[in-house]
Amino acid sequence: MLKIGSHVSMNGKKMLLGSVEEALSYDANTFMIYTGAPQNTKRKPTEAMAIEKAHQLMGEKGIDKKDVVVHAPYIMNLANPDPEKQAFAVEFLTEEIHRAHQMGFKQIVLHPGAHVKQGADAGIKRIVANLDKVLESTQKTDVLIALETMSGKGTEIGRNFEELQAIIERVQHHERLSVCLDTCHIHDAGYDIINDYEGVLQQFDAIIGLDRLSVLHINDSKNKMGAHKDRHENLGFGEIGFDTLSKMIHDVRFSHLPKILETPYLPKTSDDKKRIYPPYKYEIEMIKTKTFNPDLKKIIRDKEKLTQV
Ligand code: FE
Ligand code: FE
Ligand code: ZN
Repeated sequence: MLKIGSHVSMNGKKMLLGSVEEALSYDANTFMIYTGAPQNTKRKPTEAMAIEKAHQLMGEKGIDKKDVVVHAPYIMNLANPDPEKQAFAVEFLTEEIHRAHQMGFKQIVLHPGAHVKQGADAGIKRIVANLDKVLESTQKTDVLIALETMSGKGTEIGRNFEELQAIIERVQHHERLSVCLDTCHIHDAGYDIINDYEGVLQQFDAIIGLDRLSVLHINDSKNKMGAHKDRHENLGFGEIGFDTLSKMIHDVRFSHLPKILETPYLPKTSDDKKRIYPPYKYEIEMIKTKTFNPDLKKIIRDKEKLTQV
């Protein structure tokens, strides 16, 4: 069965229950959440997250807890040279993992870190030491940390499979590390999934091992291969294209993995860029029917106009 969803929000009074409802409104059967705003570390206590009600609805609608993905805030940097900031990142990631565990979820996606001009080797060393601490202090959970493949913008670590493997093989409890493959990021990092899909997967398998994969982020890219930019685009509207993305989504080797869309919201009209609308219901429909709809953006805006009156 295809496991497809998108990132959804978790806020207001409904919290996780609202996240499940949002996912269902897109006809998704899985989803990804941040436990609060991704750009900060302010968090509500898990008691205020409506977890039980959310679980009940998930049970009724057939959303499996083990397929749901949590994403750590992207401002966290385990490779930060400042020891105080590192300590904060370790503490916060530990709390995030406990929150994921209390929500019944099994994996948290993490951007490995940025070495901020200290060099990749120094950055990798810090990440390994800090992951060791986090895994040690969260031993009682069975939550995986899924290291995300990065585009290589700025001083990001994880811009190639070798860097991720260098982290994995040095971490003591690496049985709790997995990998999140982001299609936009590997394309931007220079992997040619359009013309050499099998070759890229073979490289991944030889360097990391396909059995380490635990989630796929499915995004098209606004930029050319190797641009190191990280700007997501709606499926079929970017440089990767619908066929390659669809091939990966429906690849039987990945049928057990949740696939998560992080494509951009659309402005409702070109002259009203502030009002935005999520594309996920429509993108999921394209995925299920394996058919690219070049009028997708226009259709989304038109439907929204109708529901506005
Ligand atoms: Fe990410
Ligand atoms: Fe991603
Ligand atoms: Zn990205």
